Amino acid sequence: MALLLNVTDPERIEAFEKAFRDFPVRLVRSDEGYDARDIHYIFTWQPVDDWARFPNLRVVFSVSAGVDQFSTLPGHVDLIKMVDGNNTQYVVDYVLAACLACLRRFPVYATRQGQRLWQPDPPRSLANSEIAILGLGEIGQATARALCALGCRVSGWSRSGRDIPGIACAGGEAGYLSLLPTADIVVCLLPLTPQTHGLLSGAFFDRMKPGAALVHAGRGAQCVFRDLGDALRTGQLGVAVIDVFDREPLPEDSEIWGFPNCLITPHVAGRTDAGTAAANVAQNLTRLRQGRDLLWRVDRQKGY
Ligand code: NDP
Repeated sequence: MALLLNVTDPERIEAFEKAFRDFPVRLVRSDEGYDARDIHYIFTWQPVDDWARFPNLRVVFSVSAGVDQFSTLPGHVDLIKMVDGNNTQYVVDYVLAACLACLRRFPVYATRQGQRLWQPDPPRSLANSEIAILGLGEIGQATARALCALGCRVSGWSRSGRDIPGIACAGGEAGYLSLLPTADIVVCLLPLTPQTHGLLSGAFFDRMKPGAALVHAGRGAQCVFRDLGDALRTGQLGVAVIDVFDREPLPEDSEIWGFPNCLITPHVAGRTDAGTAAANVAQNLTRLRQGRDLLWRVDRQKGY
């Protein structure tokens, strides 16, 4: 039994070597020679070039919480998403910082600083704001709880329509529509699936409260960036903080860099902790050997 570490980060490799020291699974690094037929498990961020090279592959462990990049993985191979409390907390912190930046208009002041323009806007407080969270999974729920604790009114949308105390929850395909007209900030923490692809479009922005803000930390392809630029230009969207893009790294000549009232971050909302990742994989491989169900298994039909 061998686990291919399809990562190059020395910190991650070291964490696996430590966690698997006395483990009955051989670790294989991607830069060493190996026979692909020996590989039963792969830990990776990106899909490999050709899954058919690995005829005995049983489980792929994703480095990330998002797993949309694995759509070509054969159906018989289990796909495991990363669930990491540290990563969740990083995203929660990012969203809190982004919401405060939106309410206090930091992206606008950053632009004005470049123009040497002294122009104050009225402040807004978290306590008087309504925040709608799209996606109430592991990360969305933790974010919703943190915002509730700070006194915001929080609403949220999930596919199934979850019931979470203190949060006004909507469900179903069009459930988000009821949240948009009153939200001061919309936060996207959805997985990328055919249903969420292109969701943040002109029609979506038109339904939002005029001048409201967007925080987008889901996946880039959920946003129609041309429409986002238009909504920021007309002021329909007052301000935005965007972490994910349809092309990453965002090309130097992308017009997105020049969007007004928009703060761009380079996909840094979350980061998987190396030690937690290694421990999660070891825990799941132990369960597999004991004949127990795998944790954090992706529902391939739903795509997350
Ligand atoms: P989960 O799988 O735990 O939760 C996903 C949530 O989205 C669930 O509430 C689910 O509904 C909801 N959802 C999925 N599809 C739909 C739909 N069509 N309509 C309405 N709701 C839907 O995911 P996580 O919380 O772990 O992660 C969410 C996403 O955050 C990741 O997939 C990734 O894209 C992004 N992410 C970004 C990071 C960054 O650095 N920018 C870091 C980490 C994650 P239900 O509850 O009914 O199943």
